[in-house]
Amino acid sequence: MLIAHLPAGYIIGSVARKAVPVAPGVMFAALAGSVAPDFDIAWFWLADNGAVHHSTYPTHWPLFWAVVAIVAMPLVAATARRWSAASAVFFLAVFSHMVLDSVTAPMFWLMPFDGRAVELVPIPPAHSHWVLSFVLHWSFALEIGVCAVAIWMAVKNAARRELLKGAP
Ligand SMILES: [Zn+2]
Repeated sequence: MLIAHLPAGYIIGSVARKAVPVAPGVMFAALAGSVAPDFDIAWFWLADNGAVHHSTYPTHWPLFWAVVAIVAMPLVAATARRWSAASAVFFLAVFSHMVLDSVTAPMFWLMPFDGRAVELVPIPPAHSHWVLSFVLHWSFALEIGVCAVAIWMAVKNAARRELLKGAP
């Protein structure tokens, strides 16, 4: 996925904020988590001159994040309880990233134990640049759909805020 991660994070953050309105930091956690696996991209472009992105770095290994979550969430619950919801939302958003990536890019769900990739809709290199191949493929409509839902939620959230502002 190219453009849907952050909007997906916003959707998760909006739902979480509604579910646990008193918990701090859930929207920020959702937005950060939704793009966290792509932190490897900076390394990929700057230092590694284009090795195979998704399999090479643990930030795109679901099992890596599962271990981090299993360690981090109880730690947060024990030491900073009020941030528990935010940490759960962060990891939920991280997993949303990897689910979305599995649609149009090879994702290695069992790395480092098994190198088989999950890729629901392989995108053929039909155009000169891979970004064009992605954007002009029918699957890009899914990304636009996620963005549309996020925009709809943002409008609804803004309207609700205005309503609350106007309330006596
Ligand atoms: Zn990714």
